[in-house]
Formats: sequence, C-alpha cells, structure tokens
Amino acid sequence: MDTPLYDIAILGSGPVSNTLAQLLAQIANTPSRILLLRDERPENLDATALDPRALALNQGSRVLLESIDAWPDQAADILTVHVSQQGRLGRTLISHADMQTPRLGSVVTYSALHERLNQSLQITGVTVAGGPPALITGQDDRGITIRQGQQTYHARLAVLADGQAQAPLTEDEKEAAARTRDYGQHAILATVHASNPLPGRAWERFTRQGPLALLPHPQRHDLYALVWCQPQAQAEALQALDDSHFGQALESAFGLRLGTLQPYGPRHAVPLRLTMRQRTLRGRIVTIGNAAQTLHPVAGQGLNLGLRDAAQLSLALRDWLRANTPCGTPDLHDWLMQRKADRALTIGITDLLARSFSTGLSPAEHAGGLALLGLDLMPTLRQPLVRHLLQGLRI
Ligand SMILES: Cc1cc2nc3c(=O)[nH]c(=O)nc-3n(C[C@H](O)[C@H](O)[C@H](O)COP(=O)(O)OP(=O)(O)OC[C@H]3O[C@@H](n4cnc5c(N)ncnc54)[C@H](O)[C@@H]3O)c2cc1C
Repeated sequence: MDTPLYDIAILGSGPVSNTLAQLLAQIANTPSRILLLRDERPENLDATALDPRALALNQGSRVLLESIDAWPDQAADILTVHVSQQGRLGRTLISHADMQTPRLGSVVTYSALHERLNQSLQITGVTVAGGPPALITGQDDRGITIRQGQQTYHARLAVLADGQAQAPLTEDEKEAAARTRDYGQHAILATVHASNPLPGRAWERFTRQGPLALLPHPQRHDLYALVWCQPQAQAEALQALDDSHFGQALESAFGLRLGTLQPYGPRHAVPLRLTMRQRTLRGRIVTIGNAAQTLHPVAGQGLNLGLRDAAQLSLALRDWLRANTPCGTPDLHDWLMQRKADRALTIGITDLLARSFSTGLSPAEHAGGLALLGLDLMPTLRQPLVRHLLQGLRI
C-alpha cells in the first residue's frame, strides 16, 4: 500500500459520521487529512431530505452539537415527560427541575439536523468525497484501503459510521456473537395535530401492543411527532385507515390528554430491531453509531448513544492524531471499555423497556406498572436512571 494520504477516513452520511468529522477537525493539526466519504447517490440524498424521524436529543447531545455550531434553528424543548401505562395505575412525571437541568431534552427533525451539520461542516477543512457507498477493501500494517466508485483512498484508520447495523451479519461477525433481536414490531411515524397542546411536555405511553410516544414538534406548538410501536400486522392495519379513523384509534390508545388528535401529513412505518455488534474495533477499523448498534426507539436513545461513541472516540484519538506518527495505530483500549459499559447499559434499559410492557404476560406487565410507580415514589432510584437517559455515562 502507498503511504496513506489521510489519517482517518470516515464512511457514512448520517449525523454520527458528520459530527465525528467535525470533532476531529477541531483537534487535528491538518483537518484536510480527515476524509469523510458519503453516499451521495440521488436516492440516498432524497431519503435523507425526506426522512420522517423526529429525534429527541438529550442535553448532552445538544451541548455537543452546539460545540460544533451544528444545532438546528428549529428545536422544541422537552421540560417534562409523562410516562404511563394503558389500563394500569402506574405513571410518573419527570421534570427538568427535579434533574436540575434547563430542559430534559430537545426535539429536532432528522432532516433539519442533517442540513445544519452540512452547513457547519463546510468551514472545517475536512476533505469530503461523495459518490456511491464507500467500501473497505483491505487493511495491512500501514493502513486501510477504501474504494468509492472509481476512486481508491488510503488512510491510517477507518471509522465505519454507515448506519448499516441492520445489514446481514458476515460470518466473521456471527463468530463475534452480535446480539440481535427482532421485536416483531413496526414504528408508525407521523406528525399529529392536537386540539389542546401542552407546550414543553413529551408523553411516553406503554400499551399492550407496544410503546407510544408523542413529542413536541419543532415546527409548531400544536403539532406532535408520533412514534407508535405495534406488532407488524396491527401497524399495517393502522396504516390502512384513513386519517379520521387513524386519529380515533390513536385517541383510544393515548386518551384525550391533548384533546383530539389528527394526522398532519403522511405516515410511515419502519421495522424495529436490536443489533449490537460485539466487536467495534477490528485492526484499524472502528465502528460507531447505528453501524455498531440499532436500538428500539423507546426512550429515544439511538442517536444520543451514537453521538457519545463519536465524542469519546475523538477524545481517545487526540494525542495520536496530533503526534502524526506515520505507521502506528492508536491505543483505543480505554475507549473500547468506556463504550462497552455505556452501550451495554443503554441498550439494556431500552431493551427492557421495549419488552417488559408488551409481552402480553400479565405478571411482567404488572411488574412494569409497579416499576413505574416505584420510580415515582423513589427519587433515589429515579435520579440515576433518568440521568443516564439524559446524559449517558460521563467520561
Ligand atoms: C423510528 C425511530 C425513532 C428514533 N428516535 C430517536 C430519538 O428520539 N432519539 C435518538 O437519539 N435516536 C432516535 N432514533 C435513532 C436514530 O435515528 C439513529 O440512532 C441515528 O440516525 C444514527 O445515526 P448514524 O449516523 O449512525 O446512522 P444513519 O442515520 O443510519 O446514517 C448513516 C448514513 O450513511 C449512509 N451510508 C450507508 N452506507 C454507506 C457507505 N458505505 N458509505 C457512505 N455512506 C453510507 C446511509 O445511507 C445513511 O445515510 C430513532 C430511530 C428510529 C428508527
């Protein structure tokens, strides 16, 4: 292999790859030696611009994105979260005041975040190449070879942030015992109009079929972003309803806390799966973000976790990047250990929440309701759990 021209090549076109590129540019002696390889086929650009996701980002993610001047102009604050269980007594109200933070989180749209990240990327000096999906074709003791279309690139380290954790596992990865679970659920994503909005409040309701979240929408105070998880067949039946009947079905699952609810614009359904790759470092290849793990959307943790992957990786690479050693590899052992703990805890909480309320088994369901009641009664238990969901493991 030729002497690598780039210190780090990042493969990915989503928020995690873009954030990492900008964090590395802030610490690198020569930001142009950071290469960001993006999938810029028209279908991927269209899918990103039209992505229906609204993302609840915690305060830690917001501070991180603000540090690279990538926080979108339109964001809705979450000041309280109301958690309840359909048909049970359990409920809890989590307030930003209890947690002593200015807000519990903020909601932004995936497309607005993407656009803002692209703007801030422009002045960083990072080398950006667009084309078909980039592919790692080899690695040796000098570096990594990557192909994108007709172009070949060499880098000393590659970071896979291509969001492909849902892709079939290779034989190598199967050996590394990736943890996977098909929830058998689809998330229905929609924007809904509420006749009696309650600004600043997000709602998480656990139903027998799956969790249902309504998040304050960044574009208007009377709109909410709906994430309604349902077994596949029920999700398909709901998708087949007209807007008026869909609104009625939603009201009967959620109640009338926000008045009447009506869909506003198109609805989408996405399948839900847990994938946690055990091996996120293979030689000179590091895997982060959704490429390392995809989570159930309950409690909105996927991107928050991916941004922590990126933030801690940039810190772990700082000395290596500044020393500019031509052939050495960075020591990422401590980073791996930090990420292992944070990933396991966040994935564990999310997976438990996703399953324990919708197993259809009464004792498990009841335990879920009791756990919620317990959280309401026991601040000592609630504080660390909520703080983890707010910030994740601190460095
Ligand atoms: C319904 C739903 C709701 C969610 N809600 C929340 C929430 O409220 N809060 C939260 O924190 N998270 C949430 N998430 C999770 C969040 O969307 C993901 O964790 C986040 O998008 C991951 O970002 P990423 O950059 O790692 O990957 P992605 O967003 O998947 O982006 C990867 C990009 O790289 C491109 N790509 C693929 N292959 C290549 C290649 N070879 N070379 C270059 N580019 C490539 C892909 O096409 C894609 O554009 C939700 C997810 C879902 C499904």
